[in-house]
Amino acid sequence: MTIQIPEKVAFIIGELYKNGYEAFAVGGCVRDSILGRTPQDWDITTSAKPLEVKKIFGRTIDTGLKHGTVTVMLDKEGFEVTTYRVDGAYEDNRHPKDVSFTSDLEEDLKRRDFTINAMAYNEQAGLVDIFGGLKDIKSRMIRCVGNAGERFDEDALRILRAVRFSAQLGFDIDEQTCEAMTSKADHLKNISAERIQTELVKLLVSDHPEYIDKAFKLGLTNVFLPEYDAIAGLETHSPKHIYTVDVHTQKALQAVEAVPALRLAMLMHDFGKSKTKKTDSDGRTTFKNHAQVSAEMARRILRRLKFDNDTTDKVTRLIRWHSMKYNPEPASARRAINRVGRDIFEDFLKVQTADLLAKSPDIIEDGLKLLKEKELLYRQIIDEGQCFEIKMLAVNGRDLIQAGLKEGPMLGKILEQLTEAVIDDQALNTKEQLIQKALDMEEKIKD
Ligand code: ATP
Ligand code: MG
Repeated sequence: MTIQIPEKVAFIIGELYKNGYEAFAVGGCVRDSILGRTPQDWDITTSAKPLEVKKIFGRTIDTGLKHGTVTVMLDKEGFEVTTYRVDGAYEDNRHPKDVSFTSDLEEDLKRRDFTINAMAYNEQAGLVDIFGGLKDIKSRMIRCVGNAGERFDEDALRILRAVRFSAQLGFDIDEQTCEAMTSKADHLKNISAERIQTELVKLLVSDHPEYIDKAFKLGLTNVFLPEYDAIAGLETHSPKHIYTVDVHTQKALQAVEAVPALRLAMLMHDFGKSKTKKTDSDGRTTFKNHAQVSAEMARRILRRLKFDNDTTDKVTRLIRWHSMKYNPEPASARRAINRVGRDIFEDFLKVQTADLLAKSPDIIEDGLKLLKEKELLYRQIIDEGQCFEIKMLAVNGRDLIQAGLKEGPMLGKILEQLTEAVIDDQALNTKEQLIQKALDMEEKIKD
């Protein structure tokens, strides 16, 4: 097995050897190279202690000296070089109490999570594969290094990482590893929201976002995302839907681009169906207001998982409007852009498309035609600079005050009403007409 190592990585390894130490590319980069995937970054593991690494290389950054990590800078590129390490006893299923350095590569590989992540490589020694990582790559299997239950006791995040790698690589998870995942699922409660967020997003933007279902079946979502469990198996009894809400969700996830906000929106867009399901007097199933309820649930979930405000705001708005219907004609389209917001309107159309593609095949063709019309209309409205929001009116608050209107909250209401009028009839968007209209409105309010 030969792996093509980038020049700079080979240089760092070579320098370490010249100084009497061992050094290897390790972990994800070895795994990805064998798989023919482009590694995200090249991590290096070495027998040299951090201070020794710092002595050898001109420019370094103390990334995590306590954990043995020094970043070596070559030109503008940084490479993490970490000393062979043994993790001490773990506290709370997450933090090793202390780490100690070792001169034995095998000890370092032993502490790693999965066999496919526990291989090392350099040009001098070739592939070091002590736990059968290569065999597991060939049989496309995620398997813990050593005893799965013990490994999850040490760090429960590994439970979620197993699903994440499974989704990224399309691999199965070994049976014993699966059993341990389920029996230790509760430990995920001890893991910080930030670490869970990272793994969840990686899972969602992977080639298999539908593997969220694996996390459900193994009893994991129950711990960190019980809202998913509430839609599992939920029937809609609607001619537009042929799937239960969870299966529809999985298909919608697959139908949208691999971008965090879009995948998060699809994941949660119908969560509110679990709370809004009713049977009306004709015996029909309804989910009144489910988009609004889903949006509120999503906001709470995103806060709980410590997502940034931008993501939270965007995802929540996409969910809030995901099922909005409007006719493909200019005034309705302008009103839709006003409500949803221009900043996310293209994403909104992507969400509606993914939602549609996950419904009954019978309605997809007509639905796509309608969405195509809406997209063309949107483009035309933007290209022509048509007015659909307050700041695009031919007048602003100051103009109206100059024309004699009173300052105050009423002025804001009048501007909103002018916007609605212009949304319906673009020809009204001249200073003269709008000032006249505003004066009429004020007069009417006074009466
Ligand atoms: P990615 O492509 O996401 O970067 P990766 O395999 O490089 O994948 P990282 O999270 O960057 O994953 O970790 C680098 C390596 O460190 C892993 O390949 C694994 O060997 C080890 N590792 C990371 N996190 C853990 C953990 N929680 N428990 C055990 N080993 C871990
Ligand atoms: Mg990595």
